[in-house]
Amino acid sequence: MSLSPMMQQYHQAKEAAGDALLLFRMGDFYELFYDDAKAAGELLGITVTSRDKGDNPVAMAGFPHHQLEAYLAKIIRAGRRAAVCDQVEEASQAKGLVRREVTRIVTPGTVTDDALLDPVASNFLAAVAFDAKGTDRVGIAWVDASTGRFWAAAIDERRLGDELTRVEASECLVAQGSQGRLPRELGDSFALTQRPAWAFGADAAVKSLCDHFGAKTLEGFGFDTESPEDRAALSAAGAVLDYLVETQRASLAHVERLQPYRLGSSLAIDAATWRSLEVTQTMRDGGRRGSLLGVIDRTVTSMGARQLAEWLRRPLTAVDAIRSRHEAVAELVGDAPLATAVREALGGVYDVERLVARITTGRASPRDLSQVARTLGALPKLKAKLAGRVSERLGRIEGRLDLCAEVRERLEAALEDDCPLSSREGGFIRTGYSPELDECRTLMAGGKQWMAQYQADEVERSGIPSMKIGFNKVFGYYLEITHAHRDKVPQHYIRKQTLKNAERYITPELKEHEEKVLSAEDRVRDLEIGHFIELRELAASVSRRLLATADALAELDVLAGLAELARARNYCRPEVVDDPVLDIVEGRHPVLDLTEPDGTFVPNSTSCAATAGSEPAGDQAKSDEHFGPAILLITGPNMAGKSTYIRQTALLTLMAQVGSFVPAKRAVIGVADRVFARVGASDELSRGQSTFMVEMTETARILNTATRRSLVILDEIGRGTSTYDGLSLAWAIVEHLHNSIGCRTLFATHYHELTELADRLGGVANRNVAVREHDGRVVFLHQIVDGSADKSYGIHVAELAGVPRSVNRRATEILATLETSDSGRAAPVAKPSKKPSGLQMTLFEPVEHPMLDEIRRADLENLTPMEALRLVAEWRERLRDE
Ligand code: ADP
Repeated sequence: MSLSPMMQQYHQAKEAAGDALLLFRMGDFYELFYDDAKAAGELLGITVTSRDKGDNPVAMAGFPHHQLEAYLAKIIRAGRRAAVCDQVEEASQAKGLVRREVTRIVTPGTVTDDALLDPVASNFLAAVAFDAKGTDRVGIAWVDASTGRFWAAAIDERRLGDELTRVEASECLVAQGSQGRLPRELGDSFALTQRPAWAFGADAAVKSLCDHFGAKTLEGFGFDTESPEDRAALSAAGAVLDYLVETQRASLAHVERLQPYRLGSSLAIDAATWRSLEVTQTMRDGGRRGSLLGVIDRTVTSMGARQLAEWLRRPLTAVDAIRSRHEAVAELVGDAPLATAVREALGGVYDVERLVARITTGRASPRDLSQVARTLGALPKLKAKLAGRVSERLGRIEGRLDLCAEVRERLEAALEDDCPLSSREGGFIRTGYSPELDECRTLMAGGKQWMAQYQADEVERSGIPSMKIGFNKVFGYYLEITHAHRDKVPQHYIRKQTLKNAERYITPELKEHEEKVLSAEDRVRDLEIGHFIELRELAASVSRRLLATADALAELDVLAGLAELARARNYCRPEVVDDPVLDIVEGRHPVLDLTEPDGTFVPNSTSCAATAGSEPAGDQAKSDEHFGPAILLITGPNMAGKSTYIRQTALLTLMAQVGSFVPAKRAVIGVADRVFARVGASDELSRGQSTFMVEMTETARILNTATRRSLVILDEIGRGTSTYDGLSLAWAIVEHLHNSIGCRTLFATHYHELTELADRLGGVANRNVAVREHDGRVVFLHQIVDGSADKSYGIHVAELAGVPRSVNRRATEILATLETSDSGRAAPVAKPSKKPSGLQMTLFEPVEHPMLDEIRRADLENLTPMEALRLVAEWRERLRDE
């Protein structure tokens, strides 16, 4: 079958596009064919038709060209890639078929169009380079193509899931065949793109990175190309760069440097903790709203919002650095007029980071340049406000704001207040900026004025009142006369075109002036574009200075936002210390504090301090005195607020280490090296693993990696298995944490039996959530108090949840029986150490059979064999009766 020339062109383009959906421009439409059309039908909800009806129908779907951005957004949101194939010559100038080429490939991780980007979120493309020799070392690199920020690191393969989770990349590159080595827990959190293995070669990577940065070596960036670690990191970075080159098909000048990312200087947060603490996204819908970030973000610029997210990804561990952020926030909190002025000035700041990326890659518009000018215009006021501040950090920010005065003056002098989005539109250079431009404009205006006068004169001369001058691309200027006046048309008019109601004429005079007007117009456009390019290059020449300023502005915005939050929500400045202690007085959960009706969130205090398993008891006693034990076991009914309480403690620690104030009356927070949260397992179910397996894998990790300086939050550990297994595991886990690690731990559990641990282990204490019974109903006070809970109130909660009354009544009866048959114990107890292994569970286990006690008490020393036999027979008899 022979293909039409157009379809041949299509197939060529499709080859260049690979597995990306090919959007093929045909006239005013973008069309998709074959499987792409079917995929688009589903993905974009557009109608699929067929092109060649008959034997070989070709599936086809399309949309109007002006909807391109909207459809691209849908495609990348679905994790797919699109290749845009445009007509690269004017139809009128084409000999035969119009030439078409793939002009860009848009992928989730490489988009740079503002319309497709979330202003307040970074958009990362990541790459993972697995070691071919099978070692545990993997290289990872990630870049934000919209800003040029680019990092690389070598990490232990076991930490890959954690790091990739934190980066929150929208697309990740791996070598063909190695996708199976990505941690399963990542699921489909990003679009996965396979690249040929050669794209990950270390030597080629070093070379292409050096070429790109115009550097002889990468040492200047802090990489040692001899070290296997750095080579792994660079392999990944090389793959990222290679992919950018392939997809962007435009300058990458804004990717100006590669930064080594060193783990260890920041608080380690693993993937499960990141998710369950809902730092940047909620578990419910993956949204920013309701996450910690969503609540604490009070920044006014998008640069600030992105920076805050970065800070959250990497909370600090150095006390000095943390205190320095707190000091800056404190100064802004204490000086309300300063904070207001700073935030007002920041309101006039644009996204310089993304502007610079567009400027250096030649994608900027006149409006982009005027936004740079406006941002620079906001700086003097900011600098003046920040000068002479107590906080060293604010002082340093002041120093980093670079006025770029000469650039600002030029831009301000050149650009109109209201600039268009495209330089082709013209009219954006101010009068007075360029004498030549002004002259051409006068000519152009003069020509137009002449036209107007000419029209008036001709109307008068001919007596045709409706005669009009018009313009089109084919005939230029013409005079239009309706058929009604056909007989009055002067002799010397030359007819050019006949329309339904009118005819169009030209005259020699008109053509002569047309020439003048048009050439002046061309000249004006050329001059404007020339000036625009000059200005853009001027701005590009200071790109580094602009970026440094952008960085300082972002930091200032984050600090001012944190100060605003602290002031508005009445947060306190935490005292950050090196010792692994916690003393939070009247702490609040940052999210619930905001979302619960005003004043109804009940604050709670937390006091604990790490012990060292091997440290002498005397020291232990001392720290107890101040901060309490290392491990707090929290019991209480469901829905009482246990999870909220323990998460709150982890979140406050995180916030403090980010540099934020915390929702509490007072807080002493000892820096944690890691925060672990194992909270709720339900979200993992969807990832296709057994809840219990996930829970235990996570727990194993905590037990293997937590140090004395870590903070561990465990919620309902062991819930995923039978009661005995679960309880025994929970018991052993607490013992291990206590004896071998000694870190600050908050353990919420419904196993009341665990509360016995407080009597056995010095560093464990019980807390419970206070509950009041009122008229047989339960009222949750949400207040954490000393001691253990004595009832589980499960039945009451069931009632609240709408379980039928009859069921609840029956449950109450059963509970009463169980409690009395349990020889007066407050709760049914099965101590793990005494539990026979392999015991089959029944519905109401673990209730001991009263006969067991008789067996225990039987005086074997003084029984004759016969008596013993008789006893056994009697017991058997009684069991039969039951
Ligand atoms: P648990 O872990 O004990 O089952 P949660 O921590 O999930 O309970 O809390 C259940 C609900 O109780 C929360 O969604 C919240 O609405 C409310 N709650 C929890 N703690 C508090 C508090 N300190 N003040 C007010 N309401 C709270």
